[in-house]
Amino acid sequence: MTAQKYPLHWQKKNFSIKIFCSIPNIATGILLKAGNENFVIDPGDGILRDLNKEIGVKSLLNISNVFITHGHHDHVGGVWSLLTYLRVMQKKSPLTIHYPDGCVEIESIYNAFKKVYSRSITYKINLKAIKKTNGFTTSNISVKPFPVVHKEYLSTGKTRQVPALGYNFIYNGTKICYGGDTAYCDELVSHAKGADLAILEAGHDEETPDEMHMTMKEAVSIGESAKKYFLVHVPE
Ligand SMILES: [Zn+2]
Ligand SMILES: [Zn+2]
Repeated sequence: MTAQKYPLHWQKKNFSIKIFCSIPNIATGILLKAGNENFVIDPGDGILRDLNKEIGVKSLLNISNVFITHGHHDHVGGVWSLLTYLRVMQKKSPLTIHYPDGCVEIESIYNAFKKVYSRSITYKINLKAIKKTNGFTTSNISVKPFPVVHKEYLSTGKTRQVPALGYNFIYNGTKICYGGDTAYCDELVSHAKGADLAILEAGHDEETPDEMHMTMKEAVSIGESAKKYFLVHVPE
């Protein structure tokens, strides 16, 4: 498949999502809008540039929630600059960062940020490690996280499962299902089914399935169970 044309945009009434980019090993960046609220999902490198252009400083300062699917650099590379920018621009309202429990990258970035700027942080940061996938409401949306299968290589050549989630975002009865990075798994199959929009990664370059990413065929098979779908994270 040829490279996706980013940004990808989807809207139903006043619920919309814009995927600035989603390129494996490079960067992801997603903006979710529900009514007047803006949410950021997987702020990879370049997120600040894209948000600034899309919503401007005032709305950027009002962002209340960030959702992280997992700690790989192409999904969290922009967190440091986002946190620092909000400090420089004197954000006052709190910011909640939702992330899978055990995601050491987010906790490390947060701890380093607190240490470096201990005397000049103007807003409260709530770190919310998601331990259970019960679902919750934050700001004006319902969120239902779900576990996915996503492994990474260790230096020994072995693999390990990383703390990784997909999310359902529901607003006024409309559901967007974003799988994050994941291999084909039952949880994703059941959550994507019937969703108004499913955002599915097809990051695996080959035909043979593995435990890190989905093949194009796998992603399409899930996508066809949703009302509409986007394929993202396709290698370029
Ligand atoms: Zn990725
Ligand atoms: Zn990943």
